[in-house]
Amino acid sequence: MSKKQEFNAFSSAQAEFDRIAELIGLEDGARQLLRNPMREYHFNIPVRMDDGSFQVFQGYRVQHNDARGPCKGGIRFHPQETVDTVRALSMWMTWKCAVVDLPLGGGKGGVICDPHHLSPREQEAICRGWVRQVFSNVGPVRDIPAPDVMTTSQHMLWMLDEYEAINGGHYPGTITGKPVGMGGSLGRTQATGYGVVYTLREALKELGIKPQDTTASVQGFGNVSQYAIELYGRLGGKTVSVSCWDQAEEASFCFVKPEGIDLTELQGITDHFGGIDQARAKDLGYKILPGESWISQDVDILLPAALENQINVDNVNMINDRVKVIAEGANGPTAPAADPYLKEKGIFVIPDFLANAGGVTCSYFEQVQSNMNYFWELGEVLSKLDVKMTAAYYAVSDLARKHEVTMRDAGYMLAINRVAMACRDRGWA
Ligand code: GLU
Repeated sequence: MSKKQEFNAFSSAQAEFDRIAELIGLEDGARQLLRNPMREYHFNIPVRMDDGSFQVFQGYRVQHNDARGPCKGGIRFHPQETVDTVRALSMWMTWKCAVVDLPLGGGKGGVICDPHHLSPREQEAICRGWVRQVFSNVGPVRDIPAPDVMTTSQHMLWMLDEYEAINGGHYPGTITGKPVGMGGSLGRTQATGYGVVYTLREALKELGIKPQDTTASVQGFGNVSQYAIELYGRLGGKTVSVSCWDQAEEASFCFVKPEGIDLTELQGITDHFGGIDQARAKDLGYKILPGESWISQDVDILLPAALENQINVDNVNMINDRVKVIAEGANGPTAPAADPYLKEKGIFVIPDFLANAGGVTCSYFEQVQSNMNYFWELGEVLSKLDVKMTAAYYAVSDLARKHEVTMRDAGYMLAINRVAMACRDRGWA
């Protein structure tokens, strides 16, 4: 069995936690508390399908820790979703909120389903069914969901509507990533991708590299990837390849243009799941390679912005010697076993829970605005986001330098210490 098939995101998240707990000398009580989620909800969502039949979908919400504030984290719709993946993602949300110093804890949700094969009405029924199962355990003061892989602002609005119908009032702070004009924040759509580039910009500054002298290869062509490519391009960087999942062929492909991809042109031939039309891309002069080729491109920067476990011991040696920085746009894209190889290669890794924290940071801004019912201009949102991401980047990088550890270890040290302190202060550990 290959390393890829063996991968269990939760065991890997726990192993990482145990390693850092040891490093910072965390006491036993806090270790026991933080290595598992505090609460989990597993439930069935029965849905009447368009053809009149019933299908039952498995749904989850996992609340890892809420010592620093209500749980926060997205809901994924994915056919390969597992409870262990949701557990891992909920733990990563705890570290993510703590590393950017948000007054929020970590949670995550999911439904095992494939929106590619569901009509909008069936998706709406899943969203409403999900809320009906957990409405008493989520909400503005308990746990605030948001979009994630294959969920959108429309899904969030259906969920909010169900929550408000059940509770009889307007509670826009229940959920984030809502459409603008319906309680959403300007900038939320761009926030994760832009946040990745704010941290990348600072990393390049520290490494003495000019963005305009760099090229990048990106895995994934969804929301995070597209906005990261846009802002990186505005800084002068050139994206030369992107890979994406092809639903019809059930495989991923890498689209390469050495002179630089044209973002708008590619967006014009992409479906709303981030799938690029191969025939049309070929006509536009893109070379199409197998999906994993994104990792072996001759570039300075790798930007994994798809799913977990994409850089692992099976493929880490395919990384080109020229690569200097990996900015992790996805959650958990690098398997911990691959980290020592990256260190040996001298690659500077901006870890996921720092690099992609722009999304939840803007979600926090959205919640603040929703609770006030007063909304900020785009410039104000983005400048607040930049300030928060840049401060978090330097908090981690200063600690990494001080303790001579990687950015990932420094980020974990900072986050775990903050969460453990909140648990101690509350008398939980
Ligand atoms: N799903 C995003 C993440 O993994 C955003 C979470 C949120 O906005 O609450 O960070």
